Amino acid sequence: MSPAGNKKILLLEDSVLLASTLKREIERRAIYQVDGVHTFEDAKTRLQQTGHGYSLALLDLTLPDASQEEIIELFRAAEIPCIVMTNKFDEAQRAYVFSQGVIDFILKDGPVSLEYLFFLLDRLHRNQGVKIVLVDDSRSTREHMKRLLLKHNFHVLDAANGQDALDLLTNHPDARLVVVDYNMPGMDGYELTKRIRHTWSKDEMGILGISSQSAHALSARFLKVGANDFLGKPFLEEEFACRVIRNVENLEHIHALEEAATRDFLTGLYNRRFFREAGTQLFAALRDGKHKHLCAAMLDVDFFKKVNDTYGHDAGDAVLREMGTLLKRLFTKPDIAARLGGEEFCLLLAGRDQTEIASLLEGVRQRIEATVITYNGMTIPITASIGASTQKTKHLDELINQADAALYRAKHNGRNRVVFHDAPD
Ligand code: GH3
Ligand code: MG
Ligand code: MG
Repeated sequence: MSPAGNKKILLLEDSVLLASTLKREIERRAIYQVDGVHTFEDAKTRLQQTGHGYSLALLDLTLPDASQEEIIELFRAAEIPCIVMTNKFDEAQRAYVFSQGVIDFILKDGPVSLEYLFFLLDRLHRNQGVKIVLVDDSRSTREHMKRLLLKHNFHVLDAANGQDALDLLTNHPDARLVVVDYNMPGMDGYELTKRIRHTWSKDEMGILGISSQSAHALSARFLKVGANDFLGKPFLEEEFACRVIRNVENLEHIHALEEAATRDFLTGLYNRRFFREAGTQLFAALRDGKHKHLCAAMLDVDFFKKVNDTYGHDAGDAVLREMGTLLKRLFTKPDIAARLGGEEFCLLLAGRDQTEIASLLEGVRQRIEATVITYNGMTIPITASIGASTQKTKHLDELINQADAALYRAKHNGRNRVVFHDAPD
C-alpha cells in the first residue's frame, strides 16, 4: 500500500463532526490524504487555488449555500472524479447522479454506508492494477462498459470478437476478468468461454457472461461452460460495477489463499511443499532436452547460529528476510527459489549451461557477501556457501542430493564459496 499523502481527496461536507470523522477514518487507512472544506464557496476557492491537485472529490449534496446541480457542475468542470453523499434516495436521484458521471453515491444512513465508502475508496486504489478485457461486437456497448470501468480505475482492454479476445488474452495473461457478450457473429460468448477455459481455470481468470436475452437457460449455459457469473442486459450501472468488483475480489481472495499455501511466511520465498511439486514438474519438463540443463543449488548461510547468538533471534530473522528479498529478485519463473527450512535455501535453475550457472552462482555468493544488513542499528556481516549440480540424473532427488553433498564440501573447504558436484577438491 502506498503511504498516506500520495493521493488527495477534497471532502466537501458542511457537518464539521462528520467531516472530521471521515477525514480521520479515511486517513487511518493510509491511502489517501483528505482536505476538508465546509461550504460551496470554500470549495470553489480551494479549486481555484490548487487546480487539479485532487484525484478524487467526496461531496455532500445537501449544502446550505448551493444546489446539488451547482456542486456537481463545479467538480465536473474541474474534471475531478466524484463520489457523492446524499440523505435521500429515490429513482430520480439515482438516475440524475449517474447521468452526471459520478463514480458512485453513498447514502448517509449510518455506519454500514460508511463501511461501503471505505471499501469503495480502497477498491478505487487497488483497481489500478487490475486488467479487465471486454468482448462485445457492439461498439457502443463496449464504449459504455469501458466508461463505467474506467471510472472505477480499472485497466480496460477491449475486443470486438472472440478471436481478437483470445489474441488479446494471450498477450495479457495477467488479465483478471473477461466480460463476454453472448450474441456475437462468428464465435459466440458461449464458445469463447469454452476456449478461454482450455487455457485458464476459473480461479486464474474470471469470466462474466452478459446477454440481452433474459432467458434463464442462457445464464445456466454460460455458467456450465465455466463462466464465474452472469448479468442480463440492460443492467444498472451500479449493478455492473458491483458485479465486476465482486468477481475481482473473489479471485483476489483465491489468489491470496494460494500464495499463503505456497509461500514461506518469513521470507516470501516458495515453501518446501511447493518446491517439491513445482520442482518435480520442472525437472520432468527439462529432463529430455538435449542442451538445456536443470541445475540444483543448495545455499546455506555460514555460521548462522552465531548470528542468532550474537545479535539475537530477531536479527537472525531479519537476515533471512533479506536473503528472501535478494533471491526473489534474482530468480523468477521458470527458476524456483525456495526456503527449505532454517537458513537453508534451494534454487532450481532452468535452461542455462554450466558456464552461465557458475558465474551466476558466484555472483549470488558475492552479492550476499556485499549485502549490508542492519538491524536495530547493528550491522550484521554474512556469507553463504553454495553447492550445485548440473548433472543429468534420473530423479530430482538425486540432483538435489548431489548439490547437498557439494554444499557439504563447500562448508568443509572453508565456507563462503561455490562448489560444483563434479569439481575436484
Ligand atoms: P554452518 O556454517 O555450518 O551452516 O553453521 P550454522 O550455524 O549456520 O548452521 P547450524 O545448522 O548449526 O545452525 C542453524 C541455526 O539456524 C540454528 C537455528 O537456531 C537457526 N534457525 C533455524 N531457523 C531459524 C529461523 O527461522 N530464524 C532464526 N533467527 N534462526 C533460525
Ligand atoms: Mg548455516
Ligand atoms: Mg544449517
